[in-house]
Amino acid sequence: MSVRSHTAPQAFAAPPCFFSNLCLRRATIEKAGRSVCVGCSTRLRGVEFPLRPPSLQPLYLTGRAAAEALDMD
Ligand SMILES: [Zn+2]
Repeated sequence: MSVRSHTAPQAFAAPPCFFSNLCLRRATIEKAGRSVCVGCSTRLRGVEFPLRPPSLQPLYLTGRAAAEALDMD
């Protein structure tokens, strides 16, 4: 919560925009199978999806949760 970065305002590490060589931004949505920023989404046709952060769901926070997960086989 105390991560401070002027280059990555998002809580998770978003992938670079598909056109990042042009806009130098990070992707915020998915469109046409590509991760693009809002500005570049107008370049693509298709349905927009929210970009799914890879770590939106927290990893096992406690040893107990991890142990229970390991016992699920
Ligand atoms: Zn872009």
